[in-house]
Amino acid sequence: MSADGLPPLREVIAAHGLSARKALGQNFILDLTLTARIARAAGDLSACDVLEVGPGPGGLTRALLSEGARRVVAVEKDARALPALAQIAAHWPGRLEVVHGDALEADVTGLLRPPVRVVANLPYNVGTELLVRWLTPPDWPPFWTSLTLMFQREVAQRIVARPGEDAYGRLAILAQWRASPRIVLDLPPGAFVPPPKVSSSVVHIEALPEPRFPARAATLSRVVAAAFNQRRKMLRSSLRGLAPDIEDHLARAGIPPTERAERVSLEGFCALSRSLDADAPQPG
Ligand code: SAM
Repeated sequence: MSADGLPPLREVIAAHGLSARKALGQNFILDLTLTARIARAAGDLSACDVLEVGPGPGGLTRALLSEGARRVVAVEKDARALPALAQIAAHWPGRLEVVHGDALEADVTGLLRPPVRVVANLPYNVGTELLVRWLTPPDWPPFWTSLTLMFQREVAQRIVARPGEDAYGRLAILAQWRASPRIVLDLPPGAFVPPPKVSSSVVHIEALPEPRFPARAATLSRVVAAAFNQRRKMLRSSLRGLAPDIEDHLARAGIPPTERAERVSLEGFCALSRSLDADAPQPG
């Protein structure tokens, strides 16, 4: 038995035939001291509901419950993991609810009582897509108070990057506009079974009560997507598709038209978004 009174994860995986599937991005963490460190990086869980995405055999789920989460709602796509997760739910009665589904489609916010912390070790593409969704709702504050998420290290660096750095781009701006991201843990490939090709990092993101600068989420997303899609081009050319008089908007935002996206601050992109909205207000 492990310290939490449940079987070791290797036994769970063998008993339920949970051989890792590449198509589901399955790289499991079997070391419960490591999953405990990730759970602790999410902050004090005792008064929180936790949304976990991709629990798999349940290593992180068990850590979240052991670390005192009030309740965990876990969304898993792979039906093979459900019996192992049911065993965990039975061990902590009333504290784990498992939803079988695709996290990109299932809306489970109705099952969660605030404050909510989100914790996940997800495949890279699903994690980035969910991160962008969680960061860009029209209204703020969002349903979550923090996100603690595993990424490829290179993606983690893009989330915390500052202007002028190579990794600075859309993810940095969206993550730093209304939240505060930091890398809290680095993991080598050997921390996972099977080991992925690259190193990983856990990023912890705390929601701010208000955005650092006013802007509409949809406009800011559009502006930074266009700006960084052609990051080496001057903004007057990369942003031409957004408005015929883009040079006037850049001037109003105090950004030289010959500037490149990687050197523009978050404040500058927000000012540019406001200028575009002032001319063409749009709902949502
Ligand atoms: N949390 C476990 C751990 O840390 O060992 C498993 C992590 S594994 C990297 C990713 C998990 O996400 C797998 O269990 C996989 O089946 C699940 N998954 C992949 N895509 C998903 C999706 N779209 N929605 C929900 N779960 C998904």
